[in-house]
Amino acid sequence: MHHHRSPGAAARAAAAVVLLALALSLGAAPALGATAGPDLVYRPEDLAFPLAGAARVIGDADVEAVLARLLGKNAFLIPLLQLDRGDRRGKIRRLLQLEAAVRSVDLKDLGKFENALRLDAFRDLWQSIQGVRGKAATGAELASLERAVETYGMLVDLAKRLGSTTKRGRYAWLLAMARDELSRRVKDQEKVRVLKQLIREDLLEALAHLGSRPERDAPATKADIEEKLKTLDQEFGGLNPLHAPTGQGITTTSAMGLRRHPKTGRIRPHEGIDLASAGCDGWKVVAVGPGRVVRSDWNGGYGFMVVVRHDLDAGVFYSRYGHLRNEGRAAPGTVVGRGDPIGLCNNTGVSTGPHLHFEVRRGSENGKPIDPHPLLTGSAAALPVE
Ligand SMILES: [Zn+2]
Repeated sequence: MHHHRSPGAAARAAAAVVLLALALSLGAAPALGATAGPDLVYRPEDLAFPLAGAARVIGDADVEAVLARLLGKNAFLIPLLQLDRGDRRGKIRRLLQLEAAVRSVDLKDLGKFENALRLDAFRDLWQSIQGVRGKAATGAELASLERAVETYGMLVDLAKRLGSTTKRGRYAWLLAMARDELSRRVKDQEKVRVLKQLIREDLLEALAHLGSRPERDAPATKADIEEKLKTLDQEFGGLNPLHAPTGQGITTTSAMGLRRHPKTGRIRPHEGIDLASAGCDGWKVVAVGPGRVVRSDWNGGYGFMVVVRHDLDAGVFYSRYGHLRNEGRAAPGTVVGRGDPIGLCNNTGVSTGPHLHFEVRRGSENGKPIDPHPLLTGSAAALPVE
């Protein structure tokens, strides 16, 4: 007995090729109209994971089970799903590509699936970010982050289309952080430009969904997001924190290191540098980089002091500004950009005349002081590597 392919089977095979091509060109794939592609044969329960609790983490077996259920009725999807078998993250990506290719399907059917999957991708992305933070990433780590960002971006996009609001602020913030890490590491300038635009959108999205009180376990508060939005793209260093209004020269009157204290006469380490100019009393003192004021009060020999925390690629740094006037100091919590005024030069505390005492410390407010002098003309690259 001869076997002939029916015209219907041939049409399905051709449609499968179209679907595959669409799925692989994700992003460029237009939404399929009701008659433009094959109908996916599945019921909502085919896509649902057997959830024991809302926060259950999806395991390999769950992904396998969903794939098996899908494949049972959608054999034409096998070529798509068999790519790169065994890679769990790859499977998640392909499931998303599949969804993207069949947008004519009622998205509500995918809701449960999306929520559960997102928890998993969230963890994956979080780990990828931690893998590269504050250090030079290897090519493999960067590629891993890039893939995690892409997968996560698809999930967030899916959540938007589903109208899901669960933890949306938190997800958007994490996506912004991940893209931020990427944008500072990729070489392709066009890619950087696109990433920066997306970061802005992510942050605005996060701001719209994250209240002033953090979501439980949320990595960010509203203030964190506002700080990031305001200080995005700014350099650290490359300017003198004592701002000369008339373009007068500023002198470093005392360098960092051991010295005889000009007032007490004792030999002690000078933990920063002193900056002065004739008539500098009352001059603006500005933040040397983007950050947030964490302290603004009287501190013994420092007199009135302002401390700014800077979250940089190279780690967390604190810049400290001493002998300020009482009035004109920025309040704790103030988000400052590079060059924003944080106080006025004066002579408070132990000091022989108006000048700015400027310090940079690593890791914590009272952490190890580093020589800030290179920062007056250089950027964060001038900071010593730990
Ligand atoms: Zn000093």
